[in-house]
Amino acid sequence: MTSAARTFAAISSPAPPPGNPVRLGRAVVLGGSVAGLLAARVLAEHAERVVVVERDPLDTGPVARRGVPQGRQVHALLRGGAQQLERWFPGFADRAVAAGAQRVLPAQQALYTDGVGKPGVSQVLCATRPFVEHQVRELVRDLPNVEFRTGRATGLDVSGGAVRAVRGESGGVGFREPGDLVVDASGRASRVPDQLAAAGWDVPPLTRQATGIDYATALFRRPPGQHDEHGVRVAAALVSPGTGSVLGGGAFTPVEGDRWIVLLAGYGTRPGGTAEEFVRLCRRDLPAPFGRVAANELLGDVVTHHQGDSRRRDWTAAARLPARLLAVGDAVSSFNPVYGQGMSSAALHASCLSAFLRSGADLDDPARRFFALQRVVVDAAWTVSTGGDRARTGVPPRGPERLAAGLLGLVVDATVVDPVVARAFDDVTQMVEHPATLLSPGVVWRSVRARRRPRPRPVPPLEPAVLLGPTALPARGAG
Ligand SMILES: Cc1cc2nc3c(=O)[nH]c(=O)nc-3n(C[C@H](O)[C@H](O)[C@H](O)COP(=O)(O)OP(=O)(O)OC[C@H]3O[C@@H](n4cnc5c(N)ncnc54)[C@H](O)[C@@H]3O)c2cc1C
Repeated sequence: MTSAARTFAAISSPAPPPGNPVRLGRAVVLGGSVAGLLAARVLAEHAERVVVVERDPLDTGPVARRGVPQGRQVHALLRGGAQQLERWFPGFADRAVAAGAQRVLPAQQALYTDGVGKPGVSQVLCATRPFVEHQVRELVRDLPNVEFRTGRATGLDVSGGAVRAVRGESGGVGFREPGDLVVDASGRASRVPDQLAAAGWDVPPLTRQATGIDYATALFRRPPGQHDEHGVRVAAALVSPGTGSVLGGGAFTPVEGDRWIVLLAGYGTRPGGTAEEFVRLCRRDLPAPFGRVAANELLGDVVTHHQGDSRRRDWTAAARLPARLLAVGDAVSSFNPVYGQGMSSAALHASCLSAFLRSGADLDDPARRFFALQRVVVDAAWTVSTGGDRARTGVPPRGPERLAAGLLGLVVDATVVDPVVARAFDDVTQMVEHPATLLSPGVVWRSVRARRRPRPRPVPPLEPAVLLGPTALPARGAG
């Protein structure tokens, strides 16, 4: 096992972290979304008081809100994230299910590549993004030493080489929240790097990988108990560029409120922007279970979202950083959303924070040990999501990366016919294991042998293009 894989295993362990907790007076968290809430949960074990500064009012229940524009899109909770939620909030999944989240067994899942299906590997918990955030928020609200402050953070007070307070404003009135530790969880558009630069500190360098992905998400009524006659309740389908479809893929899951949530995704093709086109693509370009789900009543509008790139800020590469400042969640790394890594990364960052605060860290030094731990998690997620994007955009891997990419291709191919390889792959894509575990001799050997096994036949769409009438969309590849 590589040392990164060992570190990843320690961070993602469901057991409480060992060590002596650092004690703090006050901690301040910027942003009260999933990453901020999880950071607050961890900090509550170390600080007398934790203040979460969030610009949106958070008493609105499980509904989409302005500060999280991606909240109306499909959100998968990966197994690695679910495990960490259970670690920080024991009983999280049972509570969520009691409130309406859906537990889906592996046999009720179908994962298709160009129609060739395989069952799921692990049970998944399905709900909308606002529902998950609401569940976490209610549990954080129950912590006696955490409070929420509605207001927009506007700057940091730094003196003596350390961050001392967060400045902000609410309704035109300024405020100052002093803190012994400040955690930036203000998302992908965080202003903290600019604020560091303005104060003469180093800015963690930003790396981007183009994704150019377009999302369209729609909700459909789910009559209680309804599922496909073949029992498919969760599906994810990849569509290769060569097939001529405007889709790069699609997915659906059951969610709270007796609804299905359905995603269509494309790269630069903006698929499914209208209700009519959305339903037609489900029926025509994806395996039959998509068409059956989309035969239900459409609830509300199709909601679209474009994400140009995956981004990461390398805090380990900044030479001069103030002490008592950390960053978590999308403020550090955000990925091509089809890999569903964001909330699980945030949960693992919280576990890095816990390990750091139990490692005897000296908070008067910049938090380098924290950023080094977190980098292992970011690297793992980045490898999975940008590997696919680089292959798609034709960036050829070089040197050792080329060998690794070739072996990985073998492994992915084998997941369709070898359940042991499928499990190993699932552990990595679900952020339970480090990607290096896929290159273990056992997995590679099974993948080589699997090449000889026959492949299952593709599952056709409900309405293959050749059966369409004159009013239908142009056939695949046309136009
Ligand atoms: C289209 C799309 C689909 C996605 N799908 C998935 C998925 O399937 N699975 C998954 O796990 N993840 C997914 N993600 C990622 C996921 O949404 C995020 O990773 C997750 O929300 C955690 O992000 P965060 O808490 O770091 O930041 P955010 O959720 O962006 O929250 C940042 C918070 O900070 C607040 N804030 C910002 N600036 C200030 C300020 N100055 N003062 C006070 N408050 C401030 C905002 O109001 C907001 O509440 C997806 C993302 C996109 C774009």
